[in-house]
Amino acid sequence: MKKGTKDKNGMNFSVLNRSEIIDELKGQEFDLIVIGGGITGAGILLDAASRGLKTALIEKMDFASGTSSKSTKLIHGGLRYLKQMDFALVQEVGTERAIVHRLAPHLVLPEKMLLPLVENGSYGKLMTSIGLKVYDVLAKVKGDDRRKMLNRKEALALEPLLPKERLKGAGYYAEYRTDDARLTIELIKTSLKYEGMAINYMEAMDFIYDEGHISGIKARDISTGNSIEVKSKVVVSATGPWVDELREKNKSLEGKRLHLTKGVHLVVSHKKLPVKQSIYFDIPDGRMMFAIPRGKITYFGTTDTDYKDSKENVETNAIDVAYLIAAVNQMFPSIELKDDDIISSWAGLRPLIHQDGKSASELSRKDEIFISPTGLISIAGGKLTGYRKMSERIVDRVIKKVANDTKPKFLECTTDKISLCGNEFRDYEEVQKYIDDIFGKIKTHGLKYQNAWYLVTTYGKQTEIIMKQFHAFEHEDPEWRLLRAELHFCTEREMILTPMDFFIRRTGRLYFDIDSIRSYRSEVISEFFNLTNAAGAKMEQWTIELDNELDRHSNFESVEV
Ligand code: FAD
Repeated sequence: MKKGTKDKNGMNFSVLNRSEIIDELKGQEFDLIVIGGGITGAGILLDAASRGLKTALIEKMDFASGTSSKSTKLIHGGLRYLKQMDFALVQEVGTERAIVHRLAPHLVLPEKMLLPLVENGSYGKLMTSIGLKVYDVLAKVKGDDRRKMLNRKEALALEPLLPKERLKGAGYYAEYRTDDARLTIELIKTSLKYEGMAINYMEAMDFIYDEGHISGIKARDISTGNSIEVKSKVVVSATGPWVDELREKNKSLEGKRLHLTKGVHLVVSHKKLPVKQSIYFDIPDGRMMFAIPRGKITYFGTTDTDYKDSKENVETNAIDVAYLIAAVNQMFPSIELKDDDIISSWAGLRPLIHQDGKSASELSRKDEIFISPTGLISIAGGKLTGYRKMSERIVDRVIKKVANDTKPKFLECTTDKISLCGNEFRDYEEVQKYIDDIFGKIKTHGLKYQNAWYLVTTYGKQTEIIMKQFHAFEHEDPEWRLLRAELHFCTEREMILTPMDFFIRRTGRLYFDIDSIRSYRSEVISEFFNLTNAAGAKMEQWTIELDNELDRHSNFESVEV
């Protein structure tokens, strides 16, 4: 595969090649089928494929359309887990941060976090100082990235919006941030270089059994309604919030179960909440939340409430909005945010493991593996940040099942050394130089530094392919030329099936630049229609669906309490 375009057989990862990919899926027996194309499934796919296991991943909607596009988008050690005394989890995810940054320094960016200490807050100065120190030691943080304790004046200099009267100082420490959906798609694209293949909009409907043991799956192509069967020695369910559904289908839903909690984030323009940097702060009910500036916007969250409704349609409601706005206004009193200021939002489900007597916020974030008597391996829980180690643990188990006399050995896990697609950088400094480079090339066309930053932190070195297209197009509006070039890239190389896949999960525009969708929605829909030779009614259908999505993410229903 060159620059993220083709798999090892030279096939494009594109809707235009979808039928060939499905034929290939039907025509062979795999070592492993992974059900679920979130971060966990994508991580397992890359780990298994790079160790020599012939592996296929199927996802029922778009890749990362479950929880893996709805997180806080931090690659973080999870300071709150220290409070829960979960040292092993802090150590694992804390150490993983630097590794994941190295694998994709353009996509997993260093982000300093400010933890304000306020009167009656949950962390005192001494506890914060010790806690952050332990955090650094567990995660082996080095040099300038080690935590600093700031006095009130220093904290206010970093963030003048903090509440002057109540502020006592702050902790200042290192984390990373990312785009969760892009991390997922780049993992999937990287696995195509090895023994991996993947398809979205393909739902696992049932299992095939051979003498009581799973030997494959029955799946349905959501885009055509056609059913297929795929054979495999092992099947892993990495279906996040849907794990128990598949366990039930396999008649193995016994013992521990999932406990779903909803987490909401709200988006306002950066001008409305002009925080200078990321902040992790106390809120009145004793929880903590994040406010994170990102280009034109600031997002904040999250909630953590028990959830029992439809998993397919998780929505932000007026109660979530009121809760989050009140929390922000309390920490940043000069801001006075109102409901009308919210321009976008997202709501996701944490697939946690139920523990009797524990509230949503108290439940452990550790992952759990279930192995059924029929051989189904299910994994749930865990963190975006810990996807690599979770995948390694799963693939170690798969290998034990697959290894036989003819294929006794598979490679060790090397995913800590496999750069993700788009990464041809030695370090983060090179990423920054490359952003400057790209800016140098686009500013003559009237484009801004922000455009260069966005391209590089979204696509890394694949920006070059997009720039080539940009130069090939002619139009007086450079923003549209760039967006059009991006659309071609994602259609030809990132398996988008609808304009929503493009606007929501490949580019994050629904969350980070919703106005650009409103400005260019007709152009994108009609270009995608032409590019994919879609059938007549599709244009209208996509327009309605996209309008619904815009509405769903920016208008909130009141609910009865
Ligand atoms: P998912 O992403 O939900 O993937 C499961 C996939 O399986 C879905 O795409 C679904 O469509 C598919 N599927 C289901 N059934 C079938 C079927 N029958 N056939 C085919 N496909 C199927 N972690 C961090 O490290 N950092 C954070 O900042 C962070 N913030 C968070 C904030 C919130 C609000 C939440 C909810 C979680 C957060 N997390 C964070 C945790 C992290 O996001 C999750 O642990 C992770 O995304 C779970 O990924 P997954 O792949 O297991 O599940």
